[in-house]
Amino acid sequence: MLQLSNFPINTLKSTPNGSDNTSTWLLLQWWYIRQEMAGVYSFLPIGLRVLRNIENIVREEMDNAWYHEVLMSVITDKSSWDITGRWNMDVMFHVPAHDDKQYSINPTNEETVVPMMKEFLQSYKDYPTCVYHIQKKFRNEKRAKSGLLRGREFLMKDAYSFHIDDEEFSDFYESVKQVYVKIFERLWVGSDTYETVADGGDFTDKYSHEFQTVLPIGEDDIYICSWCRLGHNKEVVQGDFVCTRCDSKEFDLKQASEVGNIFPLETKFSKPFEVEYTDKDNKMVDRVLMGCYGIGISRLMWVIAEYSATEKWILWPESIAPASHYIIVIGEDNIENAFELAGKLESEWKTVILDDRMGRKDWFGQKAADCELWGIPNRIVISPKTLEQGGYELLQRGQEPTIEKL
Ligand code: ATP
Ligand code: MG
Repeated sequence: MLQLSNFPINTLKSTPNGSDNTSTWLLLQWWYIRQEMAGVYSFLPIGLRVLRNIENIVREEMDNAWYHEVLMSVITDKSSWDITGRWNMDVMFHVPAHDDKQYSINPTNEETVVPMMKEFLQSYKDYPTCVYHIQKKFRNEKRAKSGLLRGREFLMKDAYSFHIDDEEFSDFYESVKQVYVKIFERLWVGSDTYETVADGGDFTDKYSHEFQTVLPIGEDDIYICSWCRLGHNKEVVQGDFVCTRCDSKEFDLKQASEVGNIFPLETKFSKPFEVEYTDKDNKMVDRVLMGCYGIGISRLMWVIAEYSATEKWILWPESIAPASHYIIVIGEDNIENAFELAGKLESEWKTVILDDRMGRKDWFGQKAADCELWGIPNRIVISPKTLEQGGYELLQRGQEPTIEKL
C-alpha cells in the first residue's frame, strides 16, 4: 500500500524542463519519474508501480512460455568483448577499474549470456533452451530523447535462445512472435502494434523482426501491407513497396515506435565463444544457433502513456494503473476504517493508494483531482458524509457512484 501521508507528493505546478511531448510532460508533472540528466530517469513511487506492472505482465508471459528467468551482471570484463570484437561499439560505456582492468556497463548481454550458458550446454540433450532477464541497459545514445522513449539508461527484457537444429530454431523463433503478440495485447497496445520486417544488421543475412506500435510521434516509418497487415521498416523498402509475405503492392505508411525486436543470431556469438556439444554419437559439434529477443519495458511505459494520454492526464488501462483502488479519507477519525478496508482489498490482490493526507491536504477536491490525474480506475471515499449514508462511496471508472457497507 502506498500511504500518501508518508510520501511528500507534490505534483509540479509548472511545465518541467526537457519535455517535448505530452506523455513525458505528464509523467514528469504528476511525479511518476524524475529526470536526473538527459536520457536518465529515476522512477518515483507512483511511476515505479506502473513500470512494475508492465514488467510483471512481460515476466508472466515469458514464464508461461517456459523461458527461464536469470539476472545477469551489469558489468562485464573487457576480455569478453574482445572475443566478439564489440568493445568499441559506439554506444558502450567503458569503466576503467583498478589494476589495468576495464569493464563495460552492459548495453546488451550476449557477451555475458554465451560464456554463462556454455558451461551448461554440454550435450545435445541440453538443447533447445531459452533464458531471459529484465534489467537496466546502458547505452550512450547520441539521439537520447526527452522521456523514456530513448534513454541512456533503460529497462529491457532480453531473452536468448540456443538451438542445434535449423528447423527447430525457426519454429521457436515463430513461437516467440506469438508470445509477443500476447504480451502487447495484455499491454493494451496490441491492436496498433505490428510485426515488422526489419534489417538483420550485422547479425544475419536474413531479416530481423520488430514490433512497432503506431504513434504519430514515433521515430520509425513503417509500411503496413494493406492486405496482410505485415509491417516493413522503411530501411528494408527500397524502391517500390512489395509485401515480403503476400506480394501485395498496397500499403499504409505510418509512424511508429519500436517496442520489441527479435533477431536470428545464427552462430555469430556461439562461434567466437566456442560453444560445443556432444551429439548422439558422442562426437563434438561446434554449430550452435542462437536468437535474441528484446522488449523495451521502460519505453513501453512511455508508449502506453502516449497511447492513453488525454491532454491533462494518463488514463492507464486497469492492469497497468499505479493502483486498482484509491482511497480518499476525509477526517482523522476515519483513518482506521480506511486501513481496514485497504487491508481487505489487498487480501483480494487489489492494489491500494491510501490518501490519508491531513491538515492542508485534507480536502476532497485536491484528493479527487490527484486520483484522477494518476488514472486510478476505482475511487473510494470514506468521509463523515458517506458514513452517514451507511459506508463508503465506490466510484468505478465509467459508472455511477454507489454506497457500500464497510
Ligand atoms: P532502436 O532501433 O530503437 O535503437 P535497438 O534495435 O537498438 O533499438 P534492441 O537492442 O533491439 O534495440 O533493444 C530491444 C528493445 O529495447 C527495443 O525494441 C526498444 O523497445 C528498447 N530500446 C532500445 N534502445 C532503447 C533506449 N535507448 N531507450 C529505451 N528503450 C530502448
Ligand atoms: Mg531495433
